[in-house]
Amino acid sequence: MSTDTDTQEALTSVLELDLNNNGDRTPTTVRMKQKIATQIDPKKIKYWAGRKEKENYQFRDCLKANPPHNLDETISALSRKYFKLIDCRECGNCCRAYTIPICKSEMKALAIAKGIPSTAFQAKYTTYTAIDDVIANDGQNFWDGDDHEYMFKMGFPKSCPMLAGNLCSVYANRPQVCQEYPHLEKPDRINHLNMIIDNTFVCPIVFNVFEELKSVLDWR
Ligand code: SF4
Ligand code: SF4
Repeated sequence: MSTDTDTQEALTSVLELDLNNNGDRTPTTVRMKQKIATQIDPKKIKYWAGRKEKENYQFRDCLKANPPHNLDETISALSRKYFKLIDCRECGNCCRAYTIPICKSEMKALAIAKGIPSTAFQAKYTTYTAIDDVIANDGQNFWDGDDHEYMFKMGFPKSCPMLAGNLCSVYANRPQVCQEYPHLEKPDRINHLNMIIDNTFVCPIVFNVFEELKSVLDWR
């Protein structure tokens, strides 16, 4: 998923074109959007999100002022689209960006996947934390009521200890929060727009979903 300078410039101009076409979603535009998504470099997503941050908060304010009735369904559909277009195996950004909470039952499954006793897994890969400290974006505790008392010890540079290259070494047994990231297909997205904007800095799927959402809703 490398992106050369020409591609970056093309992406910039196409994004500007999309933002200025006032909802004229021709088939050509749609095709161009798909091309953008598949060519975005995960290593550059932070840069692109920074370029869009101010605009994204303006978009959030418009959504909050006049929430579309089908926002969750639209975001979910875009999420499914971009999950098909962007290969997580070429990315792994989320596994380097967040410190992952795990509960005891998840730890047991992870230890089995690694072929070591739970106690050894706990000592080698996790650190104890108070659940009250695990507060997600928007001030919401995703794991309210759960027993996520442990977190992965992150490497330096920051990286989940289960990550091997860009792949999760315990994919079939990965924690719930990993399965659900980037949380685009959950209800009540209108109250999690700050989290979505934060995630545009990490996840190419989220970045592209939010960009296309602007066009789908004829914003601007
Ligand atoms: S457990 Fe797997 S999916 Fe979750 S952060 Fe670690 S490497 Fe990524
Ligand atoms: S969910 Fe997003 S950030 Fe995580 S690996 Fe897939 S594309 Fe990258």
